[in-house]
Amino acid sequence: MTDFTMTVDADGVATITWDVPGKSMNVMSLAGFAELNAHVDTALADATVKGIIITSGKKDFAGGMDLNVIAKMREDGGAEGIFNGVMQMHAILRKIERAGMDPKSLKGGKPIVAALPGTALGIGLELPLACHRIIAADNPRAKIGLPEIMVGIFPGAGGTTRLVRKLGAMMAAPFLLEGKLSDPKAAKAGGLIDEVVAPEDLLSRAKDWVLSAKEADLVKPWDAKGYKMPGGTPYHPAGYMTFVGANAMVLGKTMGVYPAAKALLGAVYEGALVPFDTALKIEARQFTSVLMNPSSTAMIRSLFINKEALEKGANRPEAPDQTVKKVGIIGAGMMGAGIAYVSANADIEVVLIDAAQDAADRGRAYSEGLLDKGISRRKVTVEKKAEVLARITATTDYAALAGCDLIVEAVFEDPKVKAEVTARVEAATGPDCIFATNTSTLPISSLAKASARPDQFIGIHFFSPVDKMMLVEIIRGKQTGDRAVAKALDFVRQIRKTPIVVNDARFFYANRCIIPYINEGIRMVAEGVEPALVENAAKLVGMPLGPLQLVDETSIDLGVKIAKATRAAMGDAYPDGAVDEVLFWMADQGRMGKKANAGFYAYDAAGKREGLWEGLARQYPVAKDQPDLTLVQHRLLMAQVLEAVRALEDGVLTDIREGDVGAILGWGFAPWSGGPFGWLDIIGAARAVEICAALTGAYGARFAAPKMLHDMAASGATFYGKTALKAA
Ligand code: NAD
Repeated sequence: MTDFTMTVDADGVATITWDVPGKSMNVMSLAGFAELNAHVDTALADATVKGIIITSGKKDFAGGMDLNVIAKMREDGGAEGIFNGVMQMHAILRKIERAGMDPKSLKGGKPIVAALPGTALGIGLELPLACHRIIAADNPRAKIGLPEIMVGIFPGAGGTTRLVRKLGAMMAAPFLLEGKLSDPKAAKAGGLIDEVVAPEDLLSRAKDWVLSAKEADLVKPWDAKGYKMPGGTPYHPAGYMTFVGANAMVLGKTMGVYPAAKALLGAVYEGALVPFDTALKIEARQFTSVLMNPSSTAMIRSLFINKEALEKGANRPEAPDQTVKKVGIIGAGMMGAGIAYVSANADIEVVLIDAAQDAADRGRAYSEGLLDKGISRRKVTVEKKAEVLARITATTDYAALAGCDLIVEAVFEDPKVKAEVTARVEAATGPDCIFATNTSTLPISSLAKASARPDQFIGIHFFSPVDKMMLVEIIRGKQTGDRAVAKALDFVRQIRKTPIVVNDARFFYANRCIIPYINEGIRMVAEGVEPALVENAAKLVGMPLGPLQLVDETSIDLGVKIAKATRAAMGDAYPDGAVDEVLFWMADQGRMGKKANAGFYAYDAAGKREGLWEGLARQYPVAKDQPDLTLVQHRLLMAQVLEAVRALEDGVLTDIREGDVGAILGWGFAPWSGGPFGWLDIIGAARAVEICAALTGAYGARFAAPKMLHDMAASGATFYGKTALKAA
């Protein structure tokens, strides 16, 4: 394997080209680093070489580090293995930065420039940051930045130390702490890179720079005499303010559950107090501590490795290519309009049908609104808007569905209406067309009874708002065939979302787990638990919304509707009477949630949340004795997690990777834990069973540990097998 090659031209300019064979995007491996190192050594030692251009043979520069390599480094060598591996990377990048110059006089180095044709992420920017100049092609689609924090780590190949010394802690914060990505022009404005040039001029401009660079151009500010950190170090009055603010901001946003953000701040703070090379060592130690934390393993596993595997079709049945060319969407309401937008955006021709023409037109106008917003943010061009809109035909005429290879039905949640639509669609489409329903509550297998081709009938469950929510739940009915599943998966790949495939059962997977979470929160209110304790306990364990806020967002009347339908279906076995009492009372008070500006929270006239509604205490007084925080958290987490385990036991879920990825993307389940199964592996099945036993004793059978957990506790097994890490 040759990831890097080097050529030297007649003017003595060496070009090191990164082009990983067989991949569409460069990623850095340990072998790649070694090759880069060897080329740099050769070029620096060769007296005929005047300087070096580092570039890419692909349309992008690099997507980052191969995270599988990091996982392997940890497995093979533990903390020491990681630390030594990272220090080796530092040594190579530092060699590039010093480029053969005399360490005292800072003279005699060779200019090294990074020439970025496109996207440069993670190590793809950390390597350029070690060069003397960064030139990017003017490619508005390119993304430049350090997104590591999004998968639970932080830039650990010098990116943290270099960016803070280059920009100052304050200016570097959005790039490091939020993983903010920029296009080349914005990256230049933000100080990440030095120059943006026309794509065709990239290499010639890089060469000109190499040939004209002065010795002083090669000395990084932090290597020059008298360097002062922009914005001040922690003991400088201005710097002090930055660090106090940053610390508060990070804790406010992460609630202290993400080890990476804390370690990053530690690396920045401690690194700012010492010389550059010591700062790199501190960065390496903090990085190692993050990689050894089970949370980072779990996050990398779910948010990166497994998410990507699912997107690439890990659970796709064998079937010929099912790429969708023309999709028919029935029902142009909130969901249908969103599905039309994401489809048209993915170059798919769309027929958007509603019962009345003005409803269909409104559905199409929804896309127009989103595209206009994109234009105002300079993310969409006027031409692109015209192209996307031209792909959407809004009509009431089912004959327009001729030629569709996929239908997505998003009409009212009423089996009769859905059955009528199914029959009309099947009469208007060819025999190979796949029919998908976006129902959120109705069993797919019973809706399929209205179909003459039940093997081609499937559930494709989107989440709202469709353009933002990345998860799509694909539901296999009893008779759904493999081609329908493959079609749904190929469609989800086209619209660049993440699929999970589950079997048909009440509420499928995501809603099945989230309803008990909401219910547990409401139950606690009925018991007299301080509502603020419920909400804060949820947030402090990493849930994006407390259960009461969540039910306000989705609306109390929807909760009432679901409760009534579930009670009707379950009869005497229905377990949630205590929850309904609160829900129904709220509905009687007209407090329908956020949309009504009144729910468990109070809202101002503009719809802004003001705080928990005080009137709640009139009906449900707060008890004198309050449970402790951990107990409330255990109730809220176990309510979801046990449901996920039951879904696995029942065969609704067939793959724990889907259970974890689906939980994080579908309802924001504590991402730091890697998902419900990730969390169970972190605490261990034995501890989980212990928690369940205590909760069952105090609150009832809904917390009884499923057999699978008991078995795992007895055998010491984990869900992810040998790659799972126990609690530190
Ligand atoms: P909505 O009321 O906003 O839209 C439904 C649309 O279907 C309306 O425009 C209506 O005019 C149209 N319609 C009704 N009967 C029709 C018929 N016979 N032929 C053609 N069009 C018809 O509802 P929504 O929120 O978009 O939900 C649609 C479906 O998606 C439901 O099954 C719902 O359960 C499901 N769903 C909703 C959400 C959500 O958050 N709203 C999430 C996932 C799934």
